[in-house]
Amino acid sequence: SSIPTITLNNGLAMPQLGFGVWQVPDEAAAAAVRTAIEAGYRSIDTAAIYENEAGTGQGVREAGVPREELFLTTKLWNSGTKDWSGQAGRDAVLREFDASLERLGTDYVDLYLIHWPRPMHGSYGNIWQAFEELAAGGRAKAVGVSNFGQAELTALFETTSLVPAVNQVELHPYFPQRELRAFHAEHGIATEAWSPLGQGGELLAEPALTKVAAKHGRTAAQVVLRWHLQSGVITIPKSVTPARIKENFEVAGFELDAEDMAAVDSVATGRRIGPDPAGFDWN
Ligand code: NAD
Repeated sequence: SSIPTITLNNGLAMPQLGFGVWQVPDEAAAAAVRTAIEAGYRSIDTAAIYENEAGTGQGVREAGVPREELFLTTKLWNSGTKDWSGQAGRDAVLREFDASLERLGTDYVDLYLIHWPRPMHGSYGNIWQAFEELAAGGRAKAVGVSNFGQAELTALFETTSLVPAVNQVELHPYFPQRELRAFHAEHGIATEAWSPLGQGGELLAEPALTKVAAKHGRTAAQVVLRWHLQSGVITIPKSVTPARIKENFEVAGFELDAEDMAAVDSVATGRRIGPDPAGFDWN
């Protein structure tokens, strides 16, 4: 396909543009995922807490693309791992992972992530031990984290020599995560952006963006996705509208120049849409 890949720190190639399914009800997930795969997407991002792993797996099977041509990500939810500093943490991860595979109807995932760092619960040692076992056994081709900041990554490094392949974090033109991206680059961690379109709406109506879009005869969403790709970030926009699913994949065939990139950069506010992960402990 025309979508570039990012080579992760274990050598695995990950498509730089994928399809996210947060807030897609399980009943609607199969159709959305099938539409995305038919449009050309080869990477799908779900999570146990999205409660749509079954529908996602069904969509994958219905699309009929061989499993090995797809890149599936899911995430460990916070429940069942409350006491994650102990042996119970390791065992709970393996149980949760098995349940995710069962719902997805596959015997491996390409990427398994710790969904939230929850630093108030102590060391990552035993949890990450389970991730190392999954990676060594090939049931997760790569393992990583989500919503980790520099402090949480540093704490993780103290318990392990297996550096996460990916850190999936909130990242869009309003909140570009420059410092964290530089830290990732130093440590060989790929940056993956969640809510890459800033959840739509206000961001996509920014005059600085609509101006660049008009210049290229593209939409603001396509300009934002180009900005992600040209920034070296992995991006996973979500939509359930077939026309938008296709639009978000059609980001080849044009390029933002330095001035366009600067125009997108100019809307940064440094404000998050989602919670600050350092204090987030929802179950
Ligand atoms: P997003 O930035 O992808 O925005 C999605 C919304 O933008 C859609 O619901 C729609 O309203 C709008 N939209 C999409 N395409 C559009 C287009 N072409 N034109 C106009 N509007 C458009 O937001 P998201 O769903 O929050 O994030 C994407 C994915 O990131 C999720 O589905 C999920 O997979 C992942 N995610 C992960 C975490 C995490 O904690 N790891 C948190 C949030 C999201």
